[in-house]
Amino acid sequence: MLALITAVAALWVVAYLFSCWWLPYRPCGHCKGTGELHSTTFQGAFGGCWRCGGTGRKRRAGAVLLGRGDD
Ligand SMILES: [Zn+2]
Repeated sequence: MLALITAVAALWVVAYLFSCWWLPYRPCGHCKGTGELHSTTFQGAFGGCWRCGGTGRKRRAGAVLLGRGDD
């Protein structure tokens, strides 16, 4: 049973790392991938998203591990 769990875990890690290699970025959850933040107080006012630096995307942890992506 332990061998089965280990094998499944190893397969999951390989699949996760491969997906991170293939798609190193995911949309930023803070600005919904737009890179801009819209003010709820002042209509039309917006600024760059501080979490993703205005790119609208975040580097995945696995991509950092693999050295994929550049921000
Ligand atoms: Zn963002």
